[in-house]
Amino acid sequence: MPSRKFADGEVVRGRWPGSSLYFEVEVLSHDSKSQLYTVKYKDGTELELKESDIKPLTSFKQRKSGSTSSSPSRRRGSRGSRGSRGSRSRSRSRSPGRPRKSSSQSSRRSASASHNVDIKEMRKEVLEVKLTPLVLKPFGNSITRYNGEPEHRERNAIPHKNTQEQFPLSQESSYISTQYSLRPRREEIKLKEIDSEEENIVLKGTTLSRTLEVTATQTKDLEFGGVPGVFLIMLGLPAFLFLLLLLCRQREPSLLNFPPPLPALYDLWETRVFGVYLLWFFVQALFYLLPIGKVVEGTPLTDGRRLKYRLNGNAIYDFYIGRELNPRIGTFDLKYFCELRPGLIGWVVINLVMLLAEMKLQNRATPSLAMVLVNSFQLLYVVDALWNEEAVLTTMDIIHDGFGFMLAFGDLVWVPFIYSFQAFYLVHHPNEVSWLAASLIVAVKLCGYVIFRCANAQKNAFRKNPTDPRLAHLKTIHTSTGKSLLVSGWWGLVRHPNYLGDLIMALAWSLPCGFNHILPYFYVIYFTALLVHREARDERQCRRKYGAAWAEYCRRVPYRIVPGVY
Ligand code: NDP
Repeated sequence: MPSRKFADGEVVRGRWPGSSLYFEVEVLSHDSKSQLYTVKYKDGTELELKESDIKPLTSFKQRKSGSTSSSPSRRRGSRGSRGSRGSRSRSRSRSPGRPRKSSSQSSRRSASASHNVDIKEMRKEVLEVKLTPLVLKPFGNSITRYNGEPEHRERNAIPHKNTQEQFPLSQESSYISTQYSLRPRREEIKLKEIDSEEENIVLKGTTLSRTLEVTATQTKDLEFGGVPGVFLIMLGLPAFLFLLLLLCRQREPSLLNFPPPLPALYDLWETRVFGVYLLWFFVQALFYLLPIGKVVEGTPLTDGRRLKYRLNGNAIYDFYIGRELNPRIGTFDLKYFCELRPGLIGWVVINLVMLLAEMKLQNRATPSLAMVLVNSFQLLYVVDALWNEEAVLTTMDIIHDGFGFMLAFGDLVWVPFIYSFQAFYLVHHPNEVSWLAASLIVAVKLCGYVIFRCANAQKNAFRKNPTDPRLAHLKTIHTSTGKSLLVSGWWGLVRHPNYLGDLIMALAWSLPCGFNHILPYFYVIYFTALLVHREARDERQCRRKYGAAWAEYCRRVPYRIVPGVY
């Protein structure tokens, strides 16, 4: 068990990244694996430092008082008078992320061999410190992230005025969601080696994850009711799906009726159907693999994080939420593929099949207006999702959730079979819609679509390029992560305008089925519950990510989904 020198809560002096300046810090925690201390500066900044970058207060004071010092700051201070080294040290501290100068440059400055030794020594001490992006812990992490942007420089410079020392931060190392961590280069090389070993391990099919692909589920806060909740969901969802489909086939369906009996087991299995489904899945996979279309980058992942191993038994929860954030076979991204293709396109195909079934079962030469409305509305939704395919990369499903039962079942079963429910209902329960009613329903759909599309487009454009001149008129709140939050425009109306639009559209999909039964409205009810719950999850994550900035956003935009109501 490696020992640690400083205890949690101890007040010590911590070196500021890339500089020779030491500030008073409080030790928050220590990671025995990485041997890094998480420390908090007086202004609230939290960084990870290695032990050699931390000095006890007492020793620091003694050295300062003039005794022979091994303190980097002290030694560098005394060497400051030697011209070039002094200036290098200063320039280094001005720009922590700057690459080290070439050895030829330095050696030109060296007048003697001993001088060279000194320089080497100093480099070891000063330049081996490199700023590396520290992993963003997706949950429960309140560490302030620095991105080196000027606004943060200002903010962080203020509290340090107390110490009468200034430490301008680097602008070169600006990168969204980056924290600074002091690590010697050789440790990084070791980390890289570990990474590549891990990659090999993944390829060999073990359960180890590569750092970049480590699951986002390493959290103490289990969602969806924890283990019992997800267990019930996993049992309940398939059963509920059956119930709805069976009810929908009944001539007089009623939720108050005793649930219809399950068909015999042999009725549930049709090899031909299973074969068609597999074929469908693999044809989609084939299309996905075609080397056509643009290649885009996803949002920054957890680069640089050390692997964590979960030692407690949470198999059920992990199975539900998914261990792997981005499971891939080579370049085939399983989650991304399932999110959009087999399920969404399958939904449209099932809708079309229902349209034909309606014509056949009801002896119609043309599909009913209700069926046309449902089909075209939902086709628009799917085409929109595929057209704006890139936007899926910034959704919670991709960024936050692992690929487990929840997404696999949701994408492959729930979406195609429940979302096509209105069309299925109309096959067995025809509903004549007047042209006037149809026009009103179309208006509702368009209203929802405009809100949904504009809100999503606005946020995506902003996340892609926050300085986009087309968005210059919008007000924003800056956050400590470097990202900003929109606080006017669609995102100033409510905190989830895209959910509002989606819900209005959901209502428009059900209206063509008439008001004879609640069954076709199941989707609206379920979707409201889903989005209310999803909004709460997102809210929690955003509060964690953005802290005070999120609280300010909530203050300025008090409603979540429906203006003035919720
Ligand atoms: P959002 O697209 O709403 O993304 C939420 C994220 O947006 C937040 O985590 C935050 O991430 C960012 N954000 C929040 N507020 C702001 C703001 N004011 N300014 C800038 N960024 C902000 O979430 P979803 O992934 O849940 O939804 C995506 C779409 O998919 C929605 O239209 C939704 O209706 C739809 N959907 C449809 C479903 C269906 O079954 N039909 C199911 C689920 C969703 P960060 O700051 O990190 O960028």
